[in-house]
Amino acid sequence: MQFDLRAFLEGARKPYEAHFQADLTQSDFGGYTLAAPAECDFTATPTDDGAALLLCVKAQIHAECARCLEPLTQEYCFERDYLILPRDLEDPDFELPCNEQGCIDLDELVYQELIFEVPAVLLCSADCQGLCPICGKKKAAGCTCKPAADAAPVDARLSILKQLLS
Ligand SMILES: [Zn+2]
Ligand SMILES: [Zn+2]
Repeated sequence: MQFDLRAFLEGARKPYEAHFQADLTQSDFGGYTLAAPAECDFTATPTDDGAALLLCVKAQIHAECARCLEPLTQEYCFERDYLILPRDLEDPDFELPCNEQGCIDLDELVYQELIFEVPAVLLCSADCQGLCPICGKKKAAGCTCKPAADAAPVDARLSILKQLLS
C-alpha cells in the first residue's frame, strides 16, 4: 500500500488511518518466512510543523531453531513511530522508503521494520541445548553419548569456569 506523504504534509488537517495487509510471504528475510500477510495499522496525524506517523505490525514468522533445527513459529507485534518534517522529503538519507513523488511504500516499510525487529538467530527456547555433536539427535531427547576423550581438556576448563561463576 502507498501513502501519499507529500500530499498529507501539504494539505491534511485531520488524521488518516488505514488497516492493511502487507503480503510479504514471498519476501526473503534471510532466516525466516512469513506464513501469512502481516496485519498492519497505519496512522498519520498532522503536527504543527509536519506529521506524526504510527505503524503497528503483527506478523507470524516461520523459521528453524538455530541450534536444534526444529521448526518454530513466533508471533511479533510491535509499533514504530516517526516524526516527519516537510524537508525530510528532500533528504537523500530519509529513513522511510519514499519515492520521488513523496509516496511511502508501506509494505516496504513493514519489511524494513521486520528486519530490524526479528533477531537474526532464532531459538525454539532460550535454553535449547541443540544437537548432540556425536549422534546428531536433540540433546533434550536424552542421548547417551559420552564426550570423546580428546574433548576432556575443554571440559576441564569449562568446569573451572563454572566454579568461578558459581
Ligand atoms: Zn531448539
Ligand atoms: Zn548423542
